[in-house]
Amino acid sequence: MSEIKTLPLVMEPPRGRAKPPRHLADLDPAERKSLLEEQGLPGFRAKQIAAHYFGRLVDDPEQMTDLPAAQRADLVGALLPELMTPLRTQSADRGTTRKTLWKLFDGALVESVLMRYSDRTTMCVSSQAGCGMACPFCATGQGGLQRNMSTGEIVEQVIAGARALDRGEVPGGPGRVNNIVFMGMGEPLANYRAVVGAVRRLTDPAPDGYGMSARGITVSTVGLVPRMLQLAEEGIPVTLALSLHAPDDELRNELVPINTRFSVAETVDAAWNYARTTKRRVSIEYAMMRDINDQAWRADLLADVLHGVGADWGWGHVNLIPLNEVPGSQFTRSRDADTDEFVRRLEAKGISTTIRDTRGDEIDAACGQLAASE
Ligand code: SAH
Repeated sequence: MSEIKTLPLVMEPPRGRAKPPRHLADLDPAERKSLLEEQGLPGFRAKQIAAHYFGRLVDDPEQMTDLPAAQRADLVGALLPELMTPLRTQSADRGTTRKTLWKLFDGALVESVLMRYSDRTTMCVSSQAGCGMACPFCATGQGGLQRNMSTGEIVEQVIAGARALDRGEVPGGPGRVNNIVFMGMGEPLANYRAVVGAVRRLTDPAPDGYGMSARGITVSTVGLVPRMLQLAEEGIPVTLALSLHAPDDELRNELVPINTRFSVAETVDAAWNYARTTKRRVSIEYAMMRDINDQAWRADLLADVLHGVGADWGWGHVNLIPLNEVPGSQFTRSRDADTDEFVRRLEAKGISTTIRDTRGDEIDAACGQLAASE
């Protein structure tokens, strides 16, 4: 028995970088069962453990009284290894906005943010430790990419928030996470497999997954065109957000450097393809930067570019983000008058436009501020 149990460890590949511990959330139900069986444990217990993790949001083996006491530690050790530990939590908005800094198994740091509103609770999650996209106005972009996160590490951020809500630790009484945005650290489509895996785990019905609606999940991207095309074919109707930030290649090459690989026209076309294929409206993100991308003529050009894919506009909407100022950065927030004019120009051309609220700004928890510096 004990020999069988140590076998998977012995078979770990000797070379290469250490991987995050394998976790229930990395695996589908059949793989969970086989993992237990490989370790000489009863496979049918996997479903019970999944029900604790995703359904009851229990992580303490002592509370899993339907598992035989003698096997509990082995079962939980096999499927629910510790993936991350909270280093620090900061709150704002009377406790309804909470940012957590997590330390991963190898010391990498990531952040997640929980935002509770009257009608929903949103978790903003990270998909990579750091980011390789190097957008100059984004705090995460300044430090480069450390590594991709695993599916389990992505899911665990949500489940940790769900536990806090369930236990009444967030003002407003017990609740659930019903909105997830991949707008934390990292470029989700550069970690495609793990992100799609996480979306599946979060939308699989309980007890195999968290049972959320895919419509409540938003994947935000700089515009990795081949991955946008691939995501459209996955058959999971998540909302896609495209971080456009400029309607012309000259400026977008500076603000979103991946634009030198995929032009504005190709990127907007891929967004339109996503909308057409999934019947989900795409969100065009545009962070308003003073005297950089907020000129009235750029609003006109943005409207033209969005109309230019040849389809009737209606396949998306524009979401203007008041720039969150990053200390030491030359980029500053647009004047209100310029933002108002920008909105007016877009709407005059029939482009529905909203302005994002900036919760968590004061604890550096708003979009583009996550840097996890310790
Ligand atoms: N890599 C993904 C997710 C990143 S964060 C992406 O780029 O879409 C989510 C959003 O916040 C993106 O639209 C990003 O461009 C934006 N953002 C980054 N820095 C910002 C800042 N300082 N102020 C406002 N929005 C910012």
